Amino acid sequence: MATRTIKISLIGNPNTGKTSVFNQLTGLNQQVGNYPGITVERKQGSVRLPGNTKGVILDLPGTYSLNASSMDENVVIELLLNRNDKDFPDVAVVVTDVENLKRNLLLFTQIKDLEIPAILVINMADRMERKGISLNIPLLEERLKTKIALVSSRKGTGITKLKELITEYASLSTEPCLNASSIDPEYFGRLRNAFPNQLLYKLWLVITQDVNFGQLERNEIEDSFTKSKSELKRLQQKETIKRYQFINDTLKQGMTVDTAKAKDLRAKLDRILTHKIFGYLIFFAILLVIFQSIFAWSSVPMDLIDEGFTWLSSYTSNNLPPGKLTELIAEGIIPGIGGVVIFIPQIAFLFFFISILEESGYMSRVVFLMDRIMKRFGLSGKSVVPLISGTACAIPAIMAARNIENWRERLITILVTPFTTCSARLPVYAILISLIIPQRTVWGIFNLQGLTLMLLYLLGFLGAIGAAIILNKILKTKFKSFFVAEMPNYKMPLAKNVGITVVEKTKAFVYGAGKIILAISIIIWFLGSHGPGDKMERAEQIITEQYGNSLGEDKLKDAIASYKLENSYIGHIGKSIEPAIRPLGYDWKIGIAIVTSFAAREVFVGTLATIYTIGSGADDEATIKERMKQETNPETGQKVFNFATGISLLLFYAFAMQCMSTLAVTKKETNSWKWPAIQLFSMSIFAYLVSLIAYQLLK
Ligand code: GDP
Repeated sequence: MATRTIKISLIGNPNTGKTSVFNQLTGLNQQVGNYPGITVERKQGSVRLPGNTKGVILDLPGTYSLNASSMDENVVIELLLNRNDKDFPDVAVVVTDVENLKRNLLLFTQIKDLEIPAILVINMADRMERKGISLNIPLLEERLKTKIALVSSRKGTGITKLKELITEYASLSTEPCLNASSIDPEYFGRLRNAFPNQLLYKLWLVITQDVNFGQLERNEIEDSFTKSKSELKRLQQKETIKRYQFINDTLKQGMTVDTAKAKDLRAKLDRILTHKIFGYLIFFAILLVIFQSIFAWSSVPMDLIDEGFTWLSSYTSNNLPPGKLTELIAEGIIPGIGGVVIFIPQIAFLFFFISILEESGYMSRVVFLMDRIMKRFGLSGKSVVPLISGTACAIPAIMAARNIENWRERLITILVTPFTTCSARLPVYAILISLIIPQRTVWGIFNLQGLTLMLLYLLGFLGAIGAAIILNKILKTKFKSFFVAEMPNYKMPLAKNVGITVVEKTKAFVYGAGKIILAISIIIWFLGSHGPGDKMERAEQIITEQYGNSLGEDKLKDAIASYKLENSYIGHIGKSIEPAIRPLGYDWKIGIAIVTSFAAREVFVGTLATIYTIGSGADDEATIKERMKQETNPETGQKVFNFATGISLLLFYAFAMQCMSTLAVTKKETNSWKWPAIQLFSMSIFAYLVSLIAYQLLK
């Protein structure tokens, strides 16, 4: 028997548990993408329904009403007004929270008035008893002209009923809740006469909303039915009031709340967590614990991954037939993949914690707490999540900015996030700090090297804030910023939701950054192992002639590798930029490392290791450090990695935009090359100037 497919749109206010319902229905049968042309996340999933039926569920962005104030809300309206859209639902499933039913029902009545078959999900049923709420479901169904599924997506109850209701969607009433013409009989009467074949409420939305509808002839409608902005506003307000009157009436009969039962632990917790002083202290303490744990827990898997890929690389080069293809695999592809995989533990742990903070309801308090401060810099309270996530990797961090409703705040957040100190900067910082900062204890308890690292983190955040202040002055905006202080209840995080977030974010990183890091690794391998002329081919001969047998086999190999890098295309590039970077205190060897690390910062250490291999043996970090320490400038006789150069390099890595993958993600999220280009040039120029000043002052 052929399967029947039902198209379902999942709609609801933010924080009603829409995502949890979606997860309950679809499990991991989800595809996450973008709406064409804009950077609003599009989540689709499938569910098996009773009676050989398949449901395709589109999880629409959370929206408070059909009066659009953000891009996310536009998506919802555009879809619901356009019956020809391929995603137009057979049935809308509207998710509400039993504790916020009054506010949540506003959206439901609007959708009903578009005469779309709609099922009402009243979620969080598990909280009813504690809150003393009881519902008269048959009465509510009658008044709201719908079918209701009382669900707890946390406990998984009511989901079977919901599936049944979806299967039987054809029997749902499409009668509206509110008679649109009651808003203004005269005006709506004229509208009806002019467009007898259109839905009245739909016409009204076309007139009041600034969105694209394709089908309806917008100009025609607007010409004959324009009203002044203030008049439209007045009618809209009237509509909202009418809706709330209807909802109040309905709930008065259909719902009772025994307030004595409602314990208010929540109010007490809120008072502490959003306190003007304790709120911040608690937040920073939590952050500290999170970062400690991330670094402590991810070091073991990261070392294992590192060793694993090193082993695999040498195994491949020793066991495959020698030649270009083997070199490509062993020196380009395997280390390239390794360079992606190594960051997975940190990213997974970070999003594990962030997801717990969000799920528990705590993050909303942080957002509320930080919003006041962040607004001054053109950011949103919600920018906290991307800025914190940026300490692992800017890629999932920039994607996390999707939660910010206001486009301008989102854009600024995207542009400044790469300033936060990501984990790829750590190996660079670690080696430079150990070279130029003495291992000493200051003020009794602090380790000077650790303190320097902390300063660099701080510098990253200050860079982000500073850039935000500047962008805030420059950028113009279309959307106004509405901050809806959304304070959901505190809850135990749902393991399923946390798990899905971790998997999704990690996947976003692997596919987003992975492709580019891999491609760049291959290009760099090519440029580093090929060069103009025949020096590359003759490297072995030249070095052997020069050193004879005095070096021993291992060192001879290293010397050849180093000679090859110097004479490769990359070597030439490094040398050709030397005049530009000499004022910063760098020589051509550092130049090579900077060029290679423009793709990804962590490549810096590896490149220097290869360049400095000449005249030494094993390849571990201690020896790289020793070599870097001894390196002298042949012209001046001074140490290359002196204090001034070291600081200059640290600052350069703190500020320069050296990450192709981040640029690619910015392009994807802003939908234009303009913003990544601005990011690349302004950050790099700024980094250059800061390093220049630092070196010139310190040398
Ligand atoms: P969305 O913003 O509407 O997508 O909501 P989420 O699915 O992210 O859920 C918001 C919060 O409500 C999370 O902390 C969930 O764990 C919690 N939540 C979701 N469903 C239920 C439920 O049925 N009962 C309870 N008590 N909490 C729930």
